Amino acid sequence: MSEVVVEPNGTVEPVEVSCPGCRVPLAPPSLRCPSCGEDLTALVRLRYSGRMDYNAALEALRAGEASEARVLLRRALAAEPGLAPARSLLAALG
Ligand SMILES: [Zn+2]
Repeated sequence: MSEVVVEPNGTVEPVEVSCPGCRVPLAPPSLRCPSCGEDLTALVRLRYSGRMDYNAALEALRAGEASEARVLLRRALAAEPGLAPARSLLAALG
């Protein structure tokens, strides 16, 4: 069984989410628009889902669950096709 080396700082940074109404960027950790107070939790979850799956894949790899990591990485790439670290990690896993 081949070992996959995971970068110690392989986790990805969160993406910036803006309020769809007023285009004001969210100020983490708040999940409400600083301008209109709209609850943007669902939007944040949608935008972050690829990154959350990617980070979960890193956790799975550390736990030795390579097949679970592959599933999570494919899901991450379906949510965010431009997520380069997920793509290269999936390629490394084969
Ligand atoms: Zn707003």
